Amino acid sequence: MTPRDVVIVGSGPAGLTAALYTARANLRPLLIEGVEAGGQLMLTTMVENYPGWRDGIMGPDLMAEMRAQAEKFGTELVQNNVTEVDLCAQPITVRTADAVYAARTLIIATGASAKLLGLSSERALMGHGVSTCATCDGYFFRGQEIAVVGGGDSAMEEAVFLTRFATKVTIVHRRDSLRASKIMQDKARANPKIEWLLSTEVDQINDVGKGEVTSMIVRHAETGARKEVPVSGVFVAIGHTPNTALFKSQLEMDANGYLITHDGAKTSVPGVFACGDVQDHVYRQAVTAAGSGCMAALDAERYLEEVPQHLQTQA
Ligand code: NAP
Repeated sequence: MTPRDVVIVGSGPAGLTAALYTARANLRPLLIEGVEAGGQLMLTTMVENYPGWRDGIMGPDLMAEMRAQAEKFGTELVQNNVTEVDLCAQPITVRTADAVYAARTLIIATGASAKLLGLSSERALMGHGVSTCATCDGYFFRGQEIAVVGGGDSAMEEAVFLTRFATKVTIVHRRDSLRASKIMQDKARANPKIEWLLSTEVDQINDVGKGEVTSMIVRHAETGARKEVPVSGVFVAIGHTPNTALFKSQLEMDANGYLITHDGAKTSVPGVFACGDVQDHVYRQAVTAAGSGCMAALDAERYLEEVPQHLQTQA
């Protein structure tokens, strides 16, 4: 099997930008986009902070544009989930249920998934008042009352950020003590626009019928007492899971499972690069993911130029 120059796994802004750059460098990349193609932007509605779209663009439309642009320059797209990778030998092998690919370089852009509460109303109203990204969607809630679910640093940070727009932000946390660091807790507690519902779980988000958020039904974790709280937005901030299960014991990861990159997009294995949310738990923006996809592509190009020398070293 002749190895491909570049195989990319993941089809969010990071993977598609890596595809665009490597395609324009004439490396004929193969992008395995997974069955849930497009990444987290497929769960959003209007995106107003992607540069170049002055009037905003719907998340799925932005991904369709990026995909078409990558294809236009010769990216080959495969819709399948990767089931296994072997990064120990050159060429690298990447398996899906139907095929095996050999690659001289691999760009990992498998992203991270926001954890969800698991309510059907949460899924139904995602992008219609339910959000997993305050930076992306906070602006839409000017002058409104909203809720943030979670008790960690993300929830505190998002709640404080959202007070710039909302008149009231209620933090809903399932226990009576917070997980967040003291400094983040103190910041949230000092904010007069933040109210607290501790030992409280969200049972339901209304109103699926109307296609917008009007309230939530919460339940006290100890007494079981339920009540309806009027809100027009619910931000779920209960953590993210990086999609790195495929790479366990093959690539260096941090304690939370995010891939560790160094000197740009390099991972702990030569020829393997990572970009986007799979290696970034700090910024998590479409534009930063796209930027790091560009870095991974340029690093892969440079690596390919050095491969003959690299293989000689291995021999
Ligand atoms: P996290 O620390 O894992 O906190 C998740 C929170 O969500 C916890 O309070 C947890 O409750 C709650 N939760 C989890 N599953 C839930 C469910 N099914 N229903 C209801 N609540 C649920 O995640 P994170 O806040 O995203 O932070 C991740 C990492 O990034 C942490 O290391 C954090 O320090 C770091 N971070 C740092 C900053 C900063 O320093 N500026 C900002 C953001 C994140 P329990 O407490 O009951 O488990």
